[in-house]
Amino acid sequence: MTEKTVSKNPFTGEQIAEFAVTKKEELFSIVDKAREAQKKWEKTPIKQRIKRIKKIKDYLAANADKIAKQISKENGKTPTEALATEVLPASIAVSYYCRTAKRFLKPYRPAGSSLLLFNKKAEIISQPYGVVGIISPWNYPFSIPFSEVIMALLAGNAVILKTASISQLAGNMIKEAVAVAGLEEGIFNLVNLPGRIAGDTFIEAGIDKLFFTGSVETGRYLAKKAGEKLLPICLELGGNDPAIVLEDANLVRAARGIAWAAFQNAGQSCGGVERVYVQKSVYERFLSLITTYLDSLKYSLDGSEDADLSGMCTIAQAKKVEEHIKDAVEKGARIFYKKLLPKEISSHPLALPPLILTEVNHNMQIMREESFGPVIGVMAFESHDEALTLANDSSMGLTASVWTGSKKFARYFAENLEAGVISINDHLMSHGMPELSWGGWKDSGIGWTHGRLGFAEFVRFKNICDDRLGELSCELWWPPYRDGVYRALLSAIKAVYGRGFFARIGAWLRVAKAFIGMLFKR
Ligand code: NAD
Repeated sequence: MTEKTVSKNPFTGEQIAEFAVTKKEELFSIVDKAREAQKKWEKTPIKQRIKRIKKIKDYLAANADKIAKQISKENGKTPTEALATEVLPASIAVSYYCRTAKRFLKPYRPAGSSLLLFNKKAEIISQPYGVVGIISPWNYPFSIPFSEVIMALLAGNAVILKTASISQLAGNMIKEAVAVAGLEEGIFNLVNLPGRIAGDTFIEAGIDKLFFTGSVETGRYLAKKAGEKLLPICLELGGNDPAIVLEDANLVRAARGIAWAAFQNAGQSCGGVERVYVQKSVYERFLSLITTYLDSLKYSLDGSEDADLSGMCTIAQAKKVEEHIKDAVEKGARIFYKKLLPKEISSHPLALPPLILTEVNHNMQIMREESFGPVIGVMAFESHDEALTLANDSSMGLTASVWTGSKKFARYFAENLEAGVISINDHLMSHGMPELSWGGWKDSGIGWTHGRLGFAEFVRFKNICDDRLGELSCELWWPPYRDGVYRALLSAIKAVYGRGFFARIGAWLRVAKAFIGMLFKR
């Protein structure tokens, strides 16, 4: 009997679709077929590749409503969030990469480094890896893998995509979107493997590069596994992201923006706000503004278009958040705010109310680890240096933000925060800007996704060095050295890098003599 996974609405348990599980042996033949198909795809001129992939843009626009509603149903986020953070970024990404792929893939000639190497012509070209594996998480099940799939394909790779088992419907919608490009069989493959065997199987099956987005724990495991084979790997991992609010900030904007980045998607965002540091003079006002704003938002689990906030996606994640809250309260934190939920859903185990903890410190899990849920810890600070020290006191470094009216302060924090993604007077949304390469510092990852740097992860570079004087039978630095090569090289260094006009002229003459001598002697 074929084993299947079931896509369900997390709140009602309603079954939406089911998908056959990919067997381990099947994956091996999928990779082999992908490798064959990729050879032809790589040779397809980039113009043609772009023309095909561009069709996906039209498909997304035509099906945006359907895709958003299905994501909302399977994942639990509100339909507006699904549209804003899944379908819209995917549309922007496909259009952007179709415009930029040619430029990103263009070979380039680096500027020459030395007159002494005048005869060398340098060029850097890029070529696709071959078969790339993409493993993605459930929190943005459509937009995260989507842009990676598009970059990989435009770069000329074949793709094996594995979305989280609970997000298989989202993966299937990517498959449907890619289908309109009419790619040869084997170029794009969606598989449905359980996470616990996916990494080992991908690596054993012989993929050429692995792109993983998920938890630090799984990323660490995969990095070790990939290391054994020296398989290139790109890791986009978790975060415990700080927001710093200065006293000169537009506090209404700061309160709303931080509430959005912390509580949209029920706080299940790698780059969402988890820790907030507010300058003492505006601490009370900030708390009052953010709670008033949260009070005004509609919390619902019914997938209605006007819902502002929704529940969590998995019971396991909800339990982890509750444990973090318990740990904080036991260590002295105060539940400053807990949103009142509609009675009919308040006892649902996934309906965690947005929560604000104060009187927190860095001994609490809530401030040290990724909670990945609708809860933030808020602390007051006195000086900018104190805020920076607190914000940087983390093993992770994915995103961080500073909220201020001062360009000077914004720059100071942007340059000194230890994270790969910095926002000023906003947070998190730059994940939706494909021109901005995205990647974590510290435990938050290795490598980049999005933008020029992210695109570069899907190709391997090759340098080509050609000789303008290839008809000569030797180079100055090839043996035998008895013809005064040492002296000639010494003169060359003095001629190019030495000081004193006359000394350099003399050195040049000696170089010319040695060079001519070399031409005739060798
Ligand atoms: P996870 O690590 O449990 O799973 C991520 C994916 O990996 C899923 O598809 C899962 O099935 C698969 N997986 C699990 N074990 C595996 C293994 N041994 N080998 C190969 N694949 C395996 O993470 P999650 O709970 O799905 O996602 C949440 C985490 O992802 C959070 O930590 C979040 O911060 C992080 N995340 C990071 C980014 C980023 O851009 N840096 C974006 C989104 C999510």
